[in-house]
Amino acid sequence: MTAYDPDNIFAKILRGEFSCYKVYEDDHVLAFLDIMPRSPGHTLVIPKTPARNIFDITAEDYGHVARAAHKIAAAAKLAFKADGMTIAQYSEAAGGQVVFHLHMHVMPRHDNVGLLPPASRKEDPKVLEDNATKLIAALESLP
Ligand code: 5GP
Repeated sequence: MTAYDPDNIFAKILRGEFSCYKVYEDDHVLAFLDIMPRSPGHTLVIPKTPARNIFDITAEDYGHVARAAHKIAAAAKLAFKADGMTIAQYSEAAGGQVVFHLHMHVMPRHDNVGLLPPASRKEDPKVLEDNATKLIAALESLP
């Protein structure tokens, strides 16, 4: 497998070299909004450890990502009045991966509304700001 590239965009976000709409952070993970959301509130959860994808992350670190995605899904259901949630993780180009730092997609869903195709449209920054605010408030309201 190709080695982890420390210059990928999510590594730059982790180092603070590139901005993001952060919604959650702990010792192990960072979560931020996808700037080309496939649904309103589409969030990405990434490990702080440098892992390319499912093939080089430890089960323990993957567990931290899954745990955070679980929390964000609960908050996103509230924040976006979602009827459902799609969670996805793509590994390698053959698996649909484009950015090679492991990430889990958390995509709020509504009845009879399809996902937009990947990277089809860049969201308005104001909408992303509002959605980040809503999601952070919902995260804070969780028991
Ligand atoms: P993948 O296909 O690798 O699972 O998904 C990569 C995701 O990263 C896509 O949903 C894409 O919209 C998102 N993305 C690409 N570049 C950026 C960026 O600079 N910032 C953010 N927040 N998301 C990005």
